[in-house]
Amino acid sequence: MASESVKRDWSIKDFEVGRPLGKGKFGRVYVARETKTKYIVALKVIFKEQIEKYKLQHQLKREMAIQTSLLHPHVLRLYGWFHDAERIFLILEYAHGGELYGELQRSGHFSEQKAATYIASLTHALAYCHEKNVIHRDIKPENLLLDHEGRLKIADFGWSVESANKRRTMCGMLDYLAPEMVENRPHDYAVDNWTLGVLCYEFLYGSPPLRSRRQADTFRRIMKVDLAFPSTPHVSSEAKDLVTLLLVEGTLQKGLSCEDLGGILIV
Ligand code: AMP
Repeated sequence: MASESVKRDWSIKDFEVGRPLGKGKFGRVYVARETKTKYIVALKVIFKEQIEKYKLQHQLKREMAIQTSLLHPHVLRLYGWFHDAERIFLILEYAHGGELYGELQRSGHFSEQKAATYIASLTHALAYCHEKNVIHRDIKPENLLLDHEGRLKIADFGWSVESANKRRTMCGMLDYLAPEMVENRPHDYAVDNWTLGVLCYEFLYGSPPLRSRRQADTFRRIMKVDLAFPSTPHVSSEAKDLVTLLLVEGTLQKGLSCEDLGGILIV
């Protein structure tokens, strides 16, 4: 499958469809096996009616074009797609380990070693995306999947854009939004770096750093970068410094890139 061209004319007859893996906004995802090669994939089924109803044709096309063009060990592969009268099928790399979110929920929070491994994978993947002028804009634990060996894979490029210039659309979940996105100001790749800081904190403590019960308070805390570190669990000063660098200093000096971060992280 990996070496096959995305231009091949696939159809549902090429696959034996297995159990559902999950449900997304516009359809379901199933594990499937390509009949000829027995290669296991994830088939994402999207209903055309839903896409038309919410006028998302353009966004979906963009998601498919971007994800097909990205070839990186920590970016979930989109091998190809096909459609019938009612549905669009995306042929995706199968992430056997499921959502990283599930693992975080089960363990409460990660050890520094584990958090560093995930953050390093994410940093390398984002540096690669940014190099190709792709900003993901919706990095959160639900969009991070794990393969059979527990390797992190960035999935769901629904909000990503290909852009060397500044963008304006507000998107993503409030907890993970950078101040410039919350304020609907122009933004660039630095929004993904901000999210790295949020995730680093969440991996270490179990919940995002600026979350409040009321959305208005979360909003205010993001604007002030109102960051505080609880006394438990114990987190080293080096790890706290990295979070501060990403969230506090990263917002002041936007020059920090994922490549710089790759150099800072020692796993
Ligand atoms: P989505 O529509 O992309 O939000 O996917 C819905 C759910 O299906 C996700 O939350 C995952 O649990 C699961 N899923 C999606 N893509 C894959 C994949 N490639 N491999 C394994 N599970 C997946």
